[in-house]
Amino acid sequence: MADCVFCRIASGDLKARIVRETPELVAFMDLNPQAPTHILIIPRKHTASLAACKAEDEALLGKIQLLAAEIAAELGVSGGFRLVTNCGRGAGQSVDHLHYHLLGGRRMNWPPG
Ligand code: AMP
Ligand code: ZN
Repeated sequence: MADCVFCRIASGDLKARIVRETPELVAFMDLNPQAPTHILIIPRKHTASLAACKAEDEALLGKIQLLAAEIAAELGVSGGFRLVTNCGRGAGQSVDHLHYHLLGGRRMNWPPG
């Protein structure tokens, strides 16, 4: 999708501070970090949100979680990190390409805002 900012990052058309790439996923630093560690993990394939995922995406969703845990370990935040996807405007989703926020490096509050 040419007009999707995360598709453009996945294709290399738009620059980002990429931390990991796999054949199916890209992880890069959030432009507006909300924690000392704030990485976004996206599938290369355009999917609007978790709500748009189908049974065929099951493995992909699992890979996102496993990659998040790997990156958390690499960045030294295994002891306290959060993985979150905002799904829909009501939850604060602003980019309509499935993405997970990996947040760490500070105390996380619960319940989230
Ligand atoms: P959400 O509000 O859950 O949809 O999250 C979108 C996230 O994408 C926000 O945290 C933004 O700071 C981040 N973001 C938007 N554009 C870019 C970009 N070009 N590079 C890196 N992060 C971005
Ligand atoms: Zn996209």
